[in-house]
Amino acid sequence: MILILQADTAKTGDDYRHLMEYLSNLNNIQSRVHDEKGTLQTLTEIYLVGDTATLSAEEMESFTCVERVVRISEEYRVLGRHHDAKRPTHVDYKGVRFGQDNLNVFAGLCAVDTPEHVEIMVRALQEHGQQCTRMGAYKPRTNPYSFQGHGKSCLPYAFELAGKYGIKVIAMEVTHETHVQEIHEALKLTGHPVGIMLQIGTRNTQNFELLKSIGREPEFPVLLKRGFGITLEESLNAAEYLASEGNRRVIFGLRGMKTNMGDPHRNFIDFAHVPVVHRLTRMPVCIDPSHSVGTREATKEGIMDVFHVTAQGIIAGANMVLVDFHPAPAKALVDGPQALHMDELGYFLEDIQVARQAYEQRIKLAASHNAASAA
Ligand code: PEP
Ligand code: MN
Repeated sequence: MILILQADTAKTGDDYRHLMEYLSNLNNIQSRVHDEKGTLQTLTEIYLVGDTATLSAEEMESFTCVERVVRISEEYRVLGRHHDAKRPTHVDYKGVRFGQDNLNVFAGLCAVDTPEHVEIMVRALQEHGQQCTRMGAYKPRTNPYSFQGHGKSCLPYAFELAGKYGIKVIAMEVTHETHVQEIHEALKLTGHPVGIMLQIGTRNTQNFELLKSIGREPEFPVLLKRGFGITLEESLNAAEYLASEGNRRVIFGLRGMKTNMGDPHRNFIDFAHVPVVHRLTRMPVCIDPSHSVGTREATKEGIMDVFHVTAQGIIAGANMVLVDFHPAPAKALVDGPQALHMDELGYFLEDIQVARQAYEQRIKLAASHNAASAA
């Protein structure tokens, strides 16, 4: 059971104290308080765990600080929908909205290699009106002798250049909690020119200790990629690990599944699960067409598979696109062959708009059909 409190309920107020006293006297029920600090108000939710079937919702609602009570009937306690359409389905960060109802593109370098390439990338993004990018500094690699990213040494110039060209949020993978500390230090050193969305990659989806430590991270939102060899339910539970520790600002990323059935793509595309994740949880959903397709192959019309699958995800309601670009793919230290080229950025963004408009039209069509059949 979740008790949703009135916005800005003071923890020092009598009513809150009475409620907490009442809860602490209940047998076999533990309570956990989650605060969601927005720009305008703080929302507090109290999660009651244990023998909650015996509790009366009416009684809980009689406390004046309780706005309403949600009975949890399914999994994903914090991030799930639980048939309650009123709980937020978006995250606000650095003035950018990441919601189930909108779309952001994170085009950028798979891995930071040189300051020159970072600058070419972020300048092009600014020219195209973009405010987000992706950059890797810590790269998990299959082969231990492959380049694993420049690590903390590249952070200061990467952050400064991003800020200089108006980028507000960088998605950056971390593979260990010390990387989060290094990111904090580099942001401080450079005067916080940009915001960071921590990325947990597909190889770490079930790294529970990493999930728990990032779950306790108070500042950064997190993009959690689906594990490439586990069920959707297992990956959604991994997201719930973050939220259960306190960080519920989670965006869920689909990036394809490892199976030869997906050949000749690098992974089997799973973007049909965009609407499923929307239905089960309150998380915005990201798609990664680069790491799922893994090539620049195109159809006879000259449309690359990367473009086709991006459109497929967006037409089903995807909220974020993470995509590899590189100014000199032949020189890229990671994933050059799948990268889109700088002169394809405008074309890619336009193609995305076509798919997004089709999605919005589909929403209107569904609404008019459903209104007519209800009448
Ligand atoms: C990435 O986005 O750079 C990446 C390594 O993705 P994934 O974890 O999906 O393989
Ligand atoms: Mn990559």
